[in-house]
Amino acid sequence: MATIMDGKALSQKLKEQMKERIAQMRVEGIIPKLVVVLVGNDSASEVYVRNKHKSCGEVGIESEIIHLPEETTQEELLDTVYQLNEDPTVDGILVQLPLPKQINEKIVLRAILPEKDVDGFHPVSVGLLSIGDEGFAPATPSGIMAIFKEYGIEVAGKNCVVIGRSNIVGKPMAALLLQHDATVTICHSKTQNLAEITRRADIVIVATGRRNTLTADMVKDGVVVVDVGMNRNELGKLCGDVDFAQVKEKASFITPVPGGVGPMTITELLENTILAAQRHHR
Ligand code: NAP
Repeated sequence: MATIMDGKALSQKLKEQMKERIAQMRVEGIIPKLVVVLVGNDSASEVYVRNKHKSCGEVGIESEIIHLPEETTQEELLDTVYQLNEDPTVDGILVQLPLPKQINEKIVLRAILPEKDVDGFHPVSVGLLSIGDEGFAPATPSGIMAIFKEYGIEVAGKNCVVIGRSNIVGKPMAALLLQHDATVTICHSKTQNLAEITRRADIVIVATGRRNTLTADMVKDGVVVVDVGMNRNELGKLCGDVDFAQVKEKASFITPVPGGVGPMTITELLENTILAAQRHHR
């Protein structure tokens, strides 16, 4: 029976530590500030943005939400980003995705100054992560690395399998693991014999957005499993990509959904904002 890795508790603990660090920064005259730009009326995005704002407030990060109307043009959004790039009081800029269809996401993400790119989605941030240099790693994979650290899970030399190759989870996850000396395999929807690959893994990270991507017959005893997925089951209950009930019987460590990776994602966004403020004032 696995140890359940509690992302909610860890997130709480890290936020307490952040509070003290930010209080000290404020004494030194550094006030970290995050601006989140939300375009349109996507209800899920509104909830995410509100949570980010609330979490900033809890630890002492100043935060502002710029809420633009659904019909905002790309030029108007770019103007907002350029103003924030220029504003010396702003350390981190986050444009909440998805954007309305008249706006090209790629162009907007590329307009954010890499020094303020706390989401880590700018190609410069991606490049810096890939060569192991100082930049911003996306929050979800960073949160997973923090969970490993908390639970004493050493990734160096381990056979790690990442299922999913998105730019926000799978690819940066693989880059971070590689940076920490893991042997990494990335799988996706075209991968053949997935179960054969996962059965050899010491650590499996699942980020497909599909329920039961990983089942008990696909893992070896003692495996470490991280479930990034956020799905709804037939009863409307939140669940991940892993068959948690069965896999936890074979795993040594596993993250639950909810209460695993999710809470750590916002925490790492806060961490990136602190980092941005520290670098900005250095
Ligand atoms: P995404 O962009 O849809 O990517 C999904 C990836 O999974 C793709 O690379 C896809 O392969 C692969 N895939 C799909 N079905 C597969 C299968 N049957 N076998 C193997 N690979 C398969 O999703 P995402 O943005 O990375 O998010 C993944 C999940 O994590 C979602 O449920 C999302 O809601 C959740 N999420 C949670 C957090 C959090 O904070 N907890 C943060 C971000 C995302 P192809 O590339 O070949 O299509």
